[in-house]
Amino acid sequence: MNLLIAVRRSLGWKLFLSYLLIVIVAVVVLAGTANLHTSTALNHHIAEMQDALHRGPDAAADLDASLHAALNEIITVGALVAIVAAVLVSVFTVRRIVTPLQAMIAGSEGIAGGDYHQRVAVAGQDELGVLALAFNQMAEALEQTDRRRLELVGNVAHELRTPLSSIRGTLEGLVDGVLPPDPATFLGIQHEVARLQRLVQDLEELSRAEAGQIPLNRRTVGAVELVSPAVGRLQSQFADKGVALGVDVLANLPAVWADPGRITQVLLNLLGNALQYTPPDGQVSVRVWQEDLSLLIAVQDSGIGIDPEHLPHIFERFYRVDKSRSRAGGGSGIGLTISRHLVEAHGGRFWATSLGAGQGSTFSFSLPLAS
Ligand code: ADP
Repeated sequence: MNLLIAVRRSLGWKLFLSYLLIVIVAVVVLAGTANLHTSTALNHHIAEMQDALHRGPDAAADLDASLHAALNEIITVGALVAIVAAVLVSVFTVRRIVTPLQAMIAGSEGIAGGDYHQRVAVAGQDELGVLALAFNQMAEALEQTDRRRLELVGNVAHELRTPLSSIRGTLEGLVDGVLPPDPATFLGIQHEVARLQRLVQDLEELSRAEAGQIPLNRRTVGAVELVSPAVGRLQSQFADKGVALGVDVLANLPAVWADPGRITQVLLNLLGNALQYTPPDGQVSVRVWQEDLSLLIAVQDSGIGIDPEHLPHIFERFYRVDKSRSRAGGGSGIGLTISRHLVEAHGGRFWATSLGAGQGSTFSFSLPLAS
């Protein structure tokens, strides 16, 4: 049974058995043909023998030559038929190996030419089957990457269009004299230019994060040191909007092995979102605690919440639940994608929960402990 499975999964075994099969077929065919042809060849020899016996002294030499000729004839006919049989069996076995390889060559050429739909049939469980499976997985991954690339180009073009049309509209208004050249008009232009600049910065950061090229200056950092810079920087904005900001860091938490600058960036994104999506009089809290070998950090708000259908997508780039609301706040839908990459680069996990619209949201991530 085990041998059968080993043979099924191993191209080496299959090649060995196919050679053996060719040899056996050749030998059997040779023996069979020789057997069938023997009587014909020996009948000639017996006829010669009878002739030779009447001829006297030269009979022995003639008999010897006739016997050799008969044996040669049997071997030649047998060998020819055996070769034909061996060639037929070889063609059959070689085809079984070469056909999937040819399909993979054609598929690779298709992919090299930009056709990522190429797939090959997966036949068998041996190395060729495994290779075909790996080929299909590679083609699938390339197709997905290409789809994402096209999506990205489309999204970027879309994101650029809105501020650019706004700037163009304002400038046309100024040229035509419809808009007054006063500070309010110029502030509007400045606002859109700032938004464009932020978008370009976010895109640069996103491309580096997705390529895994954001350098991390990791060191041993305590929990308080991790959260206080971001909280300190946004405290006044929370106060201005009338949203309460609480920090709850358990005492004696172990240190983590992290880049504090990058974790501050993640927390600024989460706290910025919490502030943006929580109405005045709401509450936002940052909690830090330990679970097994990780430190967990959660930013919880009492804001607009997220419907379950949107939750699985909010870490996708450019995904915004309410496009106009997010854009009005300067959001491009990239912040969470970058944050997730940063946390994952630290070896942590990132997730979001919400009971639904109007029920607030919680964004949490884990970081591995320093030791
Ligand atoms: P943006 O720059 O648009 O805020 P993010 O990637 O940070 O981009 O967030 C993606 C989307 O997730 C937001 O557009 C918003 O719809 C949703 N979201 C993020 N944080 C919150 C939150 N605290 N409450 C409700 N929705 C949120």
